[in-house]
Amino acid sequence: MADFKMDTDGDGIAVITWDVEGRSMNVMTRDAWETLDGLIDEALSNDSIKGAVITSGKDTFAAGMDLNVLAKVRDENPDSPAAAIFGMLMEAHGVLRKIERAGMDPKTGKGGKPIAAALPGTALGIGYELPLACHRVFAADNPKARIGLPEIKVGLFPGAGGTTRLVRKMGAMAAAPFILEGKLSNPAKSKSAGLVDEVVPPGELLSRAKEWVLAATDKDIVKPWDEKGYKMPGGAPYHPSGFMTYVGASALVHSNTFGAYPAAKALMSAVYEGALVPFDTALRVEARHFTSVLMNPSSSAMIRSLFLNKEALEKGAKRPDAGDQRVRRIGVLGAGMMGAGIAHVSANAGIEVVLIDRDQEAADKGRFHSESILDKGVSRKRITPEEKEVILGRIEATTDYAALEGCDLIVEAVFEDPSVKADVTGRAEAAVPDDCVFATNTSTLPITDLAKASKRPEQFIGIHFFSPVDRMLLVEIIKGRKTGDRAVAKALDFVRQIRKTPIVVNDERFFYANRCIIPYVNEGIRMVGEGVAPALIDNAAKLAGMPLGPLQLVDETSIDLGARIARATKAALGGAYADGEVDEVIFWMEDQGRLGRKNNAGFYAYDDKGKRGEFWRGLGDKFPKADVQPDLATVRHRLLMAQVLEAVRAFEAGVLEDIREGDVGAILGWGFAPWSGGPFSWLDMIGAADAIGLSEKLEAVHGARFAAPELLKDVAASGETFYGRYGDGTAMAA
Ligand code: NAD
Repeated sequence: MADFKMDTDGDGIAVITWDVEGRSMNVMTRDAWETLDGLIDEALSNDSIKGAVITSGKDTFAAGMDLNVLAKVRDENPDSPAAAIFGMLMEAHGVLRKIERAGMDPKTGKGGKPIAAALPGTALGIGYELPLACHRVFAADNPKARIGLPEIKVGLFPGAGGTTRLVRKMGAMAAAPFILEGKLSNPAKSKSAGLVDEVVPPGELLSRAKEWVLAATDKDIVKPWDEKGYKMPGGAPYHPSGFMTYVGASALVHSNTFGAYPAAKALMSAVYEGALVPFDTALRVEARHFTSVLMNPSSSAMIRSLFLNKEALEKGAKRPDAGDQRVRRIGVLGAGMMGAGIAHVSANAGIEVVLIDRDQEAADKGRFHSESILDKGVSRKRITPEEKEVILGRIEATTDYAALEGCDLIVEAVFEDPSVKADVTGRAEAAVPDDCVFATNTSTLPITDLAKASKRPEQFIGIHFFSPVDRMLLVEIIKGRKTGDRAVAKALDFVRQIRKTPIVVNDERFFYANRCIIPYVNEGIRMVGEGVAPALIDNAAKLAGMPLGPLQLVDETSIDLGARIARATKAALGGAYADGEVDEVIFWMEDQGRLGRKNNAGFYAYDDKGKRGEFWRGLGDKFPKADVQPDLATVRHRLLMAQVLEAVRAFEAGVLEDIREGDVGAILGWGFAPWSGGPFSWLDMIGAADAIGLSEKLEAVHGARFAAPELLKDVAASGETFYGRYGDGTAMAA
């Protein structure tokens, strides 16, 4: 069945309904475009049709473009990929412009047919660009609906006229949060921002849109930019106020992205250049810049990791077949920073929570954490006071293990001490049903060892959250040696319930994320000891696309935690420990009482209110800057290769089973340069042979930690890429 169908009512209004069969949300495909184009032709040419309403047969309007299509256009046209992409975009502009001009006389603006959009719910990407081309946008008053243009988040920008139309509709400054940051809003906020024209009760959506169509005059359907004398709100680039906007916006974008994101740059160019020319030329300019973005390997890597593979993992690409394992009642042991966060996200997902700590005060404090997050939600009108009470009502804070009766999952988040963990494991298992799965949130202790305290090691698993739990998107699921399939399925179903992204890894020191982030932080600290300017270290990291430089990151996570991990690692590795130079710096910082942000004193200086300032001067006294500083590229390569080589080693060792998880996990877990699509995508982008060249150069100067893993050598020798060889999820190890 076609994705769009058209029915004309007794009043002569054509209702064009978008309803993709077999999908919970509509997504746009090339075939669907053609169908829509045909229906628009029919509506405009048939004299008995007075106007049209475009709506959806679902409770949402559309999730956007099927990004598989975008990803494929380039690959399907190897001889002239850019021309194929540009052609596709101009076709889309043609259809949308046809809707917008609606058959009117181009000179007088008379005689067109009114076309309204009626959005029952969420409308994203092309799902909002299509309404934007219509003459009036109605949205059902559905507070859960999200409306906007999130393309920038997957390395694109709104390329079906969304950029050009929104800037002309509201001005560059007002449009910036929507096109540049991908801000989404509910219908009420969309109306006050000017994204939609009317918010109506859901039951009246279609009738109100039709009423408008019947009453619309010629003037109602001419867009401001198609009228004579149109002036851009806020001023065009050569207007004094517009000038300020464009100069400021450019600086702002650069300070946020450090120039690492091709889509942000291309978007700015499309906006600026588009503002200088007539509307139809601006659409061509937008299409050219969008083409350049799609031709950039960064965009396809971002789409692959942040959209296609992220979604595949969320939908259970790695889930063993084990029946429905959704969690109904969860026990959380330890109501500290992590336990309180885990209790909150669980209650928020509708799960009954028993939150246990050593004394009632600590347990209550954990529940209070949830209350304060919910209070913020109420004050920002994200939830109602009633909803807050319902969510909070799901959390029972107690010291009594008997309350765990009926739990089907336990997540333990007590102190990082094997004997404390063993004790609570035994006590919880005595209270829960036999089939309850037991998970630990440990960050450093092997799951297989902790499972020894369990009577049911096949039901024992690691579910590793990142801090802060309510904001971090990734959850690392760790299989111990004896962990069975049902426990994996349970963990995956739980992560799906709380709407986070899972990766499933095997049990080895630091699992995956911490295993790669530690060498990054250590490389930065090591450079301080060598006399590299701290500003060069952190700025090189940001220029490489890392959200935080290594020195800022260790300040945030705390320097004593770093020192503790270093001591434990040294104790475990003995003679094989190779980070002595790092310890010299970090132990000294610890001795100085500079523990990071938590005590307002770390590699950076902080003011009394905790605001981060410059690097701490005392650092330079102890570790003076060397006279000759390395070049930016060397620092950048050291910081990136430290992480990337470790990711390859993790895959080689079978900790990671799937490079897709390696890439998605790296971006969501520790913010690995999202523009690259992840460490494996980055390697494919520069080519395995060049990566070997880099690692040899670094190894010669800085030592064996940069030695290329055999697997990288093998991929280079065969002339393959990681995705070429393993991109379908092929496992390296068991
Ligand atoms: P925390 O010190 O903030 O909280 C631990 C809580 O456990 C405290 O409230 C404590 O009273 C409670 N507790 C201790 N012994 C107990 C017992 N016998 N019975 C019941 N409650 C007990 O620590 P945290 O940062 O929340 O870390 C908890 C776990 O999560 C650790 O295993 C840690 O490695 C892991 N983890 C921490 C982070 C992080 O960033 N902090 C990230 C991932 C994982």
